[in-house]
Amino acid sequence: AEDTTAVGIRSIERKIIDYAWEHGFVKPQPATVKTGKKVAVVGSGPSGLACAQQLARAGHDVTVFEKNDHIGGLLRFGIPDFKLPKSLIDRRMDQMEAEGITFRTSTLVADTDKLPAGVRCDATSVVSPKALLEEFDAIALCGGSETPRDLKAPGRELANIHFALEYLIGQNKEVNGGGKNPINVKGKHVVVIGGGDTGADCVGTANRQGAASVTQIEVMPKPPVEYDVLATWPEWPRIFRTYTSHEEGCERLFSLNTNEFVGKDGKVTAIKVSDCEFKGGKLVNKEGTEHELKADYVFLAMGFVHPLDAVLDGFGVARDARGNAAAVPDPDTASGFMTSVPKVFAAGDMRSGQSLVVRAMSEGRRCARAVDKYLMGMSLLPAC
Ligand SMILES: Cc1cc2nc3c(=O)[nH]c(=O)nc-3n(C[C@H](O)[C@H](O)[C@H](O)COP(=O)(O)OP(=O)(O)OC[C@H]3O[C@@H](n4cnc5c(N)ncnc54)[C@H](O)[C@@H]3O)c2cc1C
Repeated sequence: AEDTTAVGIRSIERKIIDYAWEHGFVKPQPATVKTGKKVAVVGSGPSGLACAQQLARAGHDVTVFEKNDHIGGLLRFGIPDFKLPKSLIDRRMDQMEAEGITFRTSTLVADTDKLPAGVRCDATSVVSPKALLEEFDAIALCGGSETPRDLKAPGRELANIHFALEYLIGQNKEVNGGGKNPINVKGKHVVVIGGGDTGADCVGTANRQGAASVTQIEVMPKPPVEYDVLATWPEWPRIFRTYTSHEEGCERLFSLNTNEFVGKDGKVTAIKVSDCEFKGGKLVNKEGTEHELKADYVFLAMGFVHPLDAVLDGFGVARDARGNAAAVPDPDTASGFMTSVPKVFAAGDMRSGQSLVVRAMSEGRRCARAVDKYLMGMSLLPAC
């Protein structure tokens, strides 16, 4: 019988590229003509890597600076292996090295090595923005949006309350032979605060470590289960999403506000929560609904507020209203990537705020075109 099952475009694209790698069709494409121009890319997440590869193929000398000890940004240290095996990053890195890109890991680009709590930094050396501006013809800032959103409720200082990435980075390191994750929740009750992707990754990781229970709570109401196309398109639909991590075991609670962390002997033991609602745009607790949820570990997965001040202030780059790097609009790249500082560009989460991998890659590629055009007066790199 004819098989009429639909196949998503994503699956078809993935099959094609997997086949290409397996059969050796994906090869380094070093530039045949060099321009003699030097470009620094700060940050090696998907935006930085995409930007660097395009620029190297256009003939520029590209150096990628990364403060952590491995290349990949959140692909490497945020997203768990059960969603993205790290061998996929390694093979792309090998290709990029063969195309002439230099990677300088464990190198922080900033005027200070003091970063906010919860931000990972393996740097053993610090390079100042001034030095970079002197040495390079152009600089692309692709440092992501790393300042985590905190929950400043009473009891926040108790032990075993962590930002999500502290937990996920430790686990990504452990899974890839980098030593034990200092946070282990085996046999413990875990509460994840924040109902998004990052929270789901904490749920999946806690279940893999053998947590006694995992509860994910969210301050927003439960989204609709059905996708109302007419009401939503072309915006990203806000619907109730269930990831495999949830299916593996997790209680999901909505419209819950955290009032307080409760502890004993300096360690968290529970959180006090209330049912809540939005009234006149303000979050209010419903009276008489406060209760406790058992919690030996709490992971804060409430997103990221803006990029690191150390990078943007170091270069003196102007910000937009959300604290991201503001870019000068340019219709050629359907956004604009040049910042307020001449020859300094920005892309990915650092420019657009916390987003998705595909968007970061698209930003990196378009930013590369803007940099190439700035250096050469024109560019043959794609504008999308
Ligand atoms: C836990 C988690 C799970 C996610 N899951 C998904 C998912 O499943 N699908 C999806 O599409 N998106 C997902 N996202 C979002 C996605 O990972 C990001 O949108 C994307 O990685 C952004 O790419 P980027 O290159 O802009 O920044 P990043 O990936 O954040 O990379 C920035 C890099 O810059 C480095 N850096 C920063 N400042 C400096 C400096 N001063 N000097 C040197 N290096 C510096 C950082 O160390 C980092 O390596 C997830 C995010 C998180 C946190």
